[in-house]
Amino acid sequence: MGAGALMSFTVTVYCGSLRTVPESYLALAAEVGRQIAARGWSLTWGGSSTSMMGEVSRAARAGGARTTGVIPRGLVGTEVADDRADELLVVDNMRDRKAMMEAHGDAFLALPGGIGTCEELFEMWTSRVLSMHSKPVVVLDVDGHYRGLFDWLRELGGRGFVSQRALDSLIRTEDVATALDACAN
Ligand code: AMP
Repeated sequence: MGAGALMSFTVTVYCGSLRTVPESYLALAAEVGRQIAARGWSLTWGGSSTSMMGEVSRAARAGGARTTGVIPRGLVGTEVADDRADELLVVDNMRDRKAMMEAHGDAFLALPGGIGTCEELFEMWTSRVLSMHSKPVVVLDVDGHYRGLFDWLRELGGRGFVSQRALDSLIRTEDVATALDACAN
């Protein structure tokens, strides 16, 4: 569904979940939430109320966006499930979480994150490359957070392990507005 359509456009956001992430990334996540709301869009995220996950969802809700959280039962305590979500889907495991977050999103946006974020990003990217979906997969790469990853991927491309088509299909952006514009395309 395009962002101009009548039903609300939904962005699925993946981002860091640890309390140890730099302060500036908490502010970045909140800005993403604000701008999602300002566009009249909805948010799907991992359902946690802490760290960047909490920031993006609180800011989105404060701006009037509908928020849908998807969290595995086993993480409801550890990740402090957000009981203020408009909808909180408690699922059995990580695979169901990813499937549900995929089904709910019209575009997938990875903010700076750790191994969980990378895992989710790679699944959405590889499945797009395999034509299992055609939704935008966007990375918001501020402060060179993903520089090492992109350098390595380019190297893998040069060595014949990753096609140019695959490299081109992962959209790398450096600011929030450009990232959300890419989600809408
Ligand atoms: P991280 O980027 O490591 O802080 O993790 C971000 C989020 O990804 C956290 O909510 C993790 O629970 C989640 N996560 C980690 N591994 C997986 C996985 N295999 N499938 C779905 N979510 C995951």
